[in-house]
Amino acid sequence: MRTSYDCIIIGAGISGAAIAYELSKKGYQTLNLDQLTAAGLGSTSNTCAIIRTHYSTLEGTAIAYDSWFDWDRWDAYIGISDEKGYARFNQTGLINIYHQRKIPEKHMKFHDALGIPYEIWNREKLLNRMPHFVDDSFYPPRRPEDPRFHDLPEKKIDDTILYYPNDGYINDPVLSVHNIQRAAEAHGAVFLFNAKVVSIRSDENGVMGVNLKDGSRIDAPILVNAAGPHSAGINQMAGVAHKMNIKTRPLRHEVHFVPSPETFSYDRKGMVVGDGDLGGYHRPETGNLVLVGSEDPACDEKDWVDDPDQFNRDVTLAQYQAQTYRLAKRIPELRIPNKPKGIADLYDVSDDWIPIYDRSDLKGFYLAIGTSGNQYKNGPAIGRLMAELIHASENGHDHDAEPLQIRLRHVDIALNMGIFSRNREIIQGSTFSVLG
Ligand SMILES: Cc1cc2nc3c(=O)[nH]c(=O)nc-3n(C[C@H](O)[C@H](O)[C@H](O)COP(=O)(O)OP(=O)(O)OC[C@H]3O[C@@H](n4cnc5c(N)ncnc54)[C@H](O)[C@@H]3O)c2cc1C
Repeated sequence: MRTSYDCIIIGAGISGAAIAYELSKKGYQTLNLDQLTAAGLGSTSNTCAIIRTHYSTLEGTAIAYDSWFDWDRWDAYIGISDEKGYARFNQTGLINIYHQRKIPEKHMKFHDALGIPYEIWNREKLLNRMPHFVDDSFYPPRRPEDPRFHDLPEKKIDDTILYYPNDGYINDPVLSVHNIQRAAEAHGAVFLFNAKVVSIRSDENGVMGVNLKDGSRIDAPILVNAAGPHSAGINQMAGVAHKMNIKTRPLRHEVHFVPSPETFSYDRKGMVVGDGDLGGYHRPETGNLVLVGSEDPACDEKDWVDDPDQFNRDVTLAQYQAQTYRLAKRIPELRIPNKPKGIADLYDVSDDWIPIYDRSDLKGFYLAIGTSGNQYKNGPAIGRLMAELIHASENGHDHDAEPLQIRLRHVDIALNMGIFSRNREIIQGSTFSVLG
């Protein structure tokens, strides 16, 4: 095997694979290293894979919409056939229930600016489409052990409900990364699995390469940290962690599955529902199930993890009950089996829940991290943004002094990449949650 490449990418999740794809199209000889046995088996494997466009910043909204075009025409984005077939975009539409009027106003402003379709619904229209819902407000979200959890509702949810017809979810996120791997390989990219990076070599001129757990050494002048929840550890190895204003750390998160209500088939009629009033979201899941996720309401203690290789992968009864009992307030007929079913995995959370797509203080070392539970959908744009950034920086552009303005592929905007800087001040307009 070769021991020298133009660029090594640590990680073969959605981010690392998409970066390899775009860099290899530019002629870079890339190598993705992943400690797992195949692509997409890290945190990407447990993503809920919701494809939506509402974010707390114009830039976040723009890259989500830019990527949406690729999910919508996935075969055109991938450009080759994959022996495993293609991942599928289930375009169910998404409704967002709010508890505070100022949030939908911001979403509408960004969608208007970028020409993204949406509709304004009211409670009546919501109940027509989702007749199994109640339109009471239960805000603020509480835990079932809180005696106030059972208080009777006194108000209704906000009468402004936004419907996004474009949105939905990807049926098989691991397959989607395999598709990108195959597309990258068609341009010469190489993927190596069971390959754990244990140290990074550099000198005063910048990055030199990596050492693997099996003792082998691979050289490259460019190295990308796309290690998901392991990003902070990789930054430590590179010696750049203390030189960044924004830090990342792993947060454990649970998602649960319950049967679809008897009177409403989620398989046939379900949509993605963001429910800010309940502090959660849900969507259809294969097998006529309902997938129940959480938007990290303040009442739920955050489960920060020190070592991303050591965390509890089993769901807990307490969190299962918290998330599903909350949803049962919106769907009184929801059936909740006693035995919890679901997954637990890690977000790579940045200080303001906005990602870091940037260079670093070590020449040749780049960052695609801090994806904060909400960047799967942005994979295609991440690949393009990082490839442009790396290409410009390697050709002498000082991105710190003069942040790159990048024209997106499908959306008519010159995106200021400075918003994703490692040295930004915390973005106060963020939701500081999985919503970004
Ligand atoms: C429960 C859950 C639900 C989510 N829901 C959504 C959603 O609905 N929509 C959305 O857009 N996003 C969602 N996300 C977020 C999304 O999944 C992530 O933003 C995205 O998958 C991150 O991809 P990644 O490639 O950056 O990281 P990963 O997929 O984690 O890939 C990183 C890879 O790096 C490898 N690696 C790490 N360290 C090393 C090392 N030392 N040597 C070699 N390899 C290494 C790992 O093995 C891993 O494969 C969710 C996340 C979770 C956990």
